[in-house]
Amino acid sequence: MKPFIYQGMPSRVVFGAGSIEHLEREIDLLGARRAIVLSTPQQREQAEALAERLGQRVAGVFAKAVMHVPVKTAREAREYAQRLGADCAVAIGGGSTTGLGKAIALTSSLPILAVPTTYAGSEMTPIYGLTEAGLKKTGRDLRVLPKTVIYDPALTLSLPASLSVTSGINAIAHAAEGLYAQDANPVISLMAEEGIRALAQGIGKVAEQPDDLDARGDCLYGAWLCGAVLGSVGMALHHKLCHTLGGTFNLPHAETHTIVLPHALAYNRDAAPQAMKRIARALGTTDAAQGAFELARSNGVPTALKDIGFKETDIDIALDIALENPYWNPRPVERAPLRALLEAAYEGRAPG
Ligand code: NAD
Repeated sequence: MKPFIYQGMPSRVVFGAGSIEHLEREIDLLGARRAIVLSTPQQREQAEALAERLGQRVAGVFAKAVMHVPVKTAREAREYAQRLGADCAVAIGGGSTTGLGKAIALTSSLPILAVPTTYAGSEMTPIYGLTEAGLKKTGRDLRVLPKTVIYDPALTLSLPASLSVTSGINAIAHAAEGLYAQDANPVISLMAEEGIRALAQGIGKVAEQPDDLDARGDCLYGAWLCGAVLGSVGMALHHKLCHTLGGTFNLPHAETHTIVLPHALAYNRDAAPQAMKRIARALGTTDAAQGAFELARSNGVPTALKDIGFKETDIDIALDIALENPYWNPRPVERAPLRALLEAAYEGRAPG
């Protein structure tokens, strides 16, 4: 076995349908008394319902989280948390809301209690992002890693079927790239393979029957594992492309991951054969790239960048940005094959 480094992430997980019932206990365990509850405007009602049941333990609700954490929103939230004298942040929602909690924690060390309601996995990572003047900057800092995560599948029942599928494939992308990461290790690879397996099984059932609580549990369990992979090992070409497409062209996060993943896996197919075997096995298929494409196609979500607002004329700009400062990748990142990848993703062709 090759030598490796494994770094455990210090977080507490409370998992299960109905586990939101333990929120008060978990706030007390953090030693907190005045929580600020965070959400997007779309989930304000959920945030206010939480605040109501928390009663005395809540200082206020801030329901202005948006994608990619604009610096302006982060500043406003930090000031509000300070004015309230908040001593912990309860973030209920997807990666955008967790991201806002992280922006507050970065400057205040406020402990975050995350209640994820998508499968993006941000709650398991010490990675934060902040966007200013159209540029998203990311960094790593243990202060932003949520101290406690409550995974309650019942809270994901309202996630629309198509977003459930794309969010699940977004999570699978973390695990897939984790399996061929430069700093991969056998423990994280176990989590990666199991995460892909749980999500691939869960997604199909949720797409058919969004109120299948067991399947929702499989997806959230998979999301947890895939998020832990993202937080532990380096990501490669797929994530670089998605950051470029999401950050510069403002494409929707989960859909972009869903469309690009099969093509990124095809690009790396011959350079990472062992990882591809494990991804394919977890997807229940023989080819990782085809399996990821089929997972999206058979569950009725977009498979072409042209269908989510990307313009063909922007391919060259995307290439310039992606090639400027590439992440480590098992296969060298070169312009001509990368252009072919983006063209296939643009058209929605099956991966080569
Ligand atoms: P999101 O948080 O933007 O949520 C998408 C929409 O779905 C929002 O309107 C939200 O309110 C709504 N929603 C969420 N859960 C719902 C539910 N259960 N029922 C109904 N509506 C619900 O989307 P996301 O994909 O979870 O997160 C994307 C953002 O997270 C991006 O900015 C991405 O960069 C970031 N992210 C960061 C990390 C990290 O480690 N730092 C990891 C993954 C994603």
